[in-house]
Formats: sequence, C-alpha cells, structure tokens
Amino acid sequence: MTQHARPVLMTEMTWPDYAEALKGDPVVFLPTGTLEQHGPHLPMGVDHMLPLAICADVARAVGGVVAAPVCYGYKSLPRSGGGPFFPGSVGLDGGTLSATVRDVIRELVRHGIRRVCVIDGHFENRWFLNEGIDLAMRDAAGRDLHVMCLQHWDFLTPDTLAQVFPGEYPGIELEHAAVLETSLMLHFHPDLVREDLIPDNAPADAPPYDFWPARRAWVPEEGSLTTARGASREKGALMAAQYRRDISAAVRREFGLDA
Ligand code: ZN
Ligand code: MN
Repeated sequence: MTQHARPVLMTEMTWPDYAEALKGDPVVFLPTGTLEQHGPHLPMGVDHMLPLAICADVARAVGGVVAAPVCYGYKSLPRSGGGPFFPGSVGLDGGTLSATVRDVIRELVRHGIRRVCVIDGHFENRWFLNEGIDLAMRDAAGRDLHVMCLQHWDFLTPDTLAQVFPGEYPGIELEHAAVLETSLMLHFHPDLVREDLIPDNAPADAPPYDFWPARRAWVPEEGSLTTARGASREKGALMAAQYRRDISAAVRREFGLDA
C-alpha cells in the first residue's frame, strides 16, 4: 500500500483525511482574492493564487488545514486594481462576498473548527471580509470561535520593503500587477509569468478620490498601475520567507498554539 503524505489542502483531501485532521483541532486557513486583470504578463488569478500558496506554506508550518479559496472578490476599482475596463475582471457585490465568507465560516464551525485565519490578496475585499467575519461571529455567539484576517502585504517589514524597492515603495494601491505581485508570482508560479511582457509603464495618475462612471484615463493602458521592472524571483522568495515566518508566528501567538 502506498503511503501518502498528509495533504494540507481540503480540495485534495478525502473526507476521512479531513476527519483525521479535525482530531488535531487545526487552524483552518481561508484564502480569498478575486479574478481580475493583472497586466499583460500575469494571469488573472493572482489575487487568489498568492493567498492559496501563502496559506499552504503557513498551514504546513503550524500544522493547519487550507480551505478551498474564495476565487471571486469585490469589484476592481480604478485606483487599486484597474477598474472594470479590462476583459476578464469579475467583481461581486460587496454583500455577496460578505455572505460567502460568513457561510463558509459557519460551515467550518459546524465541522468543529474553532480557529480560522483568512488570508486575502485583493485590496478592495478588506471591509467586506471584515463584515462577513463579524456576522459569522454573531452567528456563533456562545461558541468558541476565533478568527484572524489579514492582507498579505501588511506583513512586509520596512527592512524587506527596502530590499524589494531600492528606490521608493509606491504604496500597496499602486503595487497592482507591479514589482510586489510579479516577484511573488515568479517565486510561487514562475511558469505563469510572461517575463518578456513585463511592463514598464509610468505610475497611474489619479486624483485622491473615486468617481462613477469609472475614469478610463486614470488607468495605464497596460493594466499594471506602475512599473513591474525590478521584479525578481529572489525578491519573491524573500517576501515569501518573511510571510512564512511572521504570519506563522502571529497565528501561533493569537491562537495560543505555543501554550
Ligand atoms: Zn493583485
Ligand atoms: Mn486586486
């Protein structure tokens, strides 16, 4: 009989695998993101593919389980994701995303899960995830449920950022399909990056407000909100290592895994 390594992704587990994992009272990681244009050189799944990879790394480090990702997210906005202009970007209404996260957590709680960590990769999702989690907490009133939620780039320290951006860090909104995401994709999914098409456009030039209908002129032609030149596999590996170390440490601390 072939011995299988313990799978960490629920999508690859059998139900007996999952039942066995539940005996360890695991933290369940929920990757969230969206389906959205990411310039001419990156696939449209970046925002959920990176969280899935990060969740798998952290789950292996702390002995957790990774739920199937939520692959659709809140609507792309021109100033942080390029907006609705590009073929392929698919946005949920905010209430749909909140309700999805709420339902998934409720189901995990029904399985006996007590600790959930949501790792997100799409800037616009933030408050709708918070809302879904808050409603899930209300649903679980009286039960033992603890939920953590983060957007991965918030774990980058000034020291790491100084190495990834030897010039100036343009800020996470402009870092759409640029150096940060391209480097992480070169680390986790090198065969999905079209290195010959890495764009070198000027930063998006938008005023400090949103406007409807969305303004096409605010968004660079390429879809990347600033240059992706300077992305490298080494920078991706550096950020991924920091995520593995620091997100694992935060998870252990907040969920009392060391106790
Ligand atoms: Zn992205
Ligand atoms: Mn995004």
